[in-house]
Order: sequence, then structure tokens, then C-alpha cells
Amino acid sequence: MARYTQATCRLCRRVGDKLMLKGDRCFTSKCALERRDVPPGYSAIAKRRAKKSDRGLQLQQKQKARYTYGILERQFRKVFAEAERLPGVTGENLLVLLERRLDNVVYRLGFASSRPQARQLVRHGHFRLNGRKTDIPSCLVKPGDVIAWREASTQSEYYKTLVQEIESRTIPGWLSLDKQKLVGKIVNLPAGDDIEVKFDAKVIVEYYSR
Ligand code: SF4
Repeated sequence: MARYTQATCRLCRRVGDKLMLKGDRCFTSKCALERRDVPPGYSAIAKRRAKKSDRGLQLQQKQKARYTYGILERQFRKVFAEAERLPGVTGENLLVLLERRLDNVVYRLGFASSRPQARQLVRHGHFRLNGRKTDIPSCLVKPGDVIAWREASTQSEYYKTLVQEIESRTIPGWLSLDKQKLVGKIVNLPAGDDIEVKFDAKVIVEYYSR
């Protein structure tokens, strides 16, 4: 399955925003964007001089969305096409489709400190979706679905530490979590205010509408 292999922090520097792709490190002074807030290959002077066109600004929003959810261009286009096909507002549909990805839900439930880490946990087969082992990060969840750790994974050090730390993590209202058993449930589909993202879905629609 295709995925990004380049240095994660470069993605934040490229779009000039903290996309929180490295978990706890993102909250420390080690954050690459805190230390050097210029795109890779740019000097600070070149960044000040660079002026983005409308198209460039739209592209930046689309890239932010892709980097945030760790999706390559071809797959992102497919998600967008699905968002267009569904009834309702395309930008909102796009956000809901992105949020429904299994790796995102694992992240939102607090089982991982970043989406890339959540993706890795899913790929390594640590979860059951409605009782069945599922290792496909792009799998879409729906209301009523239950996400639980596999029995073997509950013996790992990671899981034992997570049980102690999960109390302090907050989860969005469209999900519920049994903090003793670490079993999550999709209560309903996320709606506008439930989704906190650093990009503007309406601008992405404009980008693809040209
Ligand atoms: Fe982005 Fe986190 Fe790296 Fe900072 S530490 S640049 S927020 S991924």
C-alpha cells in the first residue's frame, strides 16, 4: 500500500502549518516548524518575497488535507469524487469521508498520538472492527461500528501504558469509548463542529472545480 516515506516534518514546513504528525514531539521545542518556519529549500528571505496566487493558496489547502490524513494524490481524488457523488455539500461530505477512515478513528479515540502512528497500528493488525481483524487504514466506519484491540495486542507494553494514559485524552462527541476495556464505538457520523481540521474544505472544492 502506497504511503509517504519522506521526513514527516517537511510536510508541515511545506504548508507552513503544524499538522501534528509526530505526536508528543509536536508539542515540544523540537518541532521542526518551531525551529525553522520556511519551506524545504527556501531561505527566510525567499519565503518573505514569495507571493502565492489564488491557485497556489487552493493547492496549499488541498495539500494540507492530504498530509493531515496521510493520503496520496490519486486516492485523495477518489475520495473527492465520492464526496461529489454523495447528496449534500461536497466540502462537508469530503470531511466526513476523511474522518470515517479507520486510522483516523483510531487516532480520534486516543489509541495513538498521531495519525501516522494510528495508521501503523492498524496496518500491524492490532484491531478488530465489529469482531473481525481489520488492517486496512482507509476502511470507512459507520454508526454502530465497534473497534476493539485484538486479544494478543492487549499483552503489549504499548497497550498497558495506554490504559494508564487514556483517561487524560479527550475524544470527539461522535465517538464513545470504554476507558477500562479500550473499546470504541461510532455513535453517529461527525458533523461540522465535530471536525477540527487545519484546512478549508470549501477551498479544496474550488481547487478541483477548475
Ligand atoms: Fe509538524 Fe509535528 Fe514535525 Fe512540528 S514536530 S513539524 S508539528 S510533524
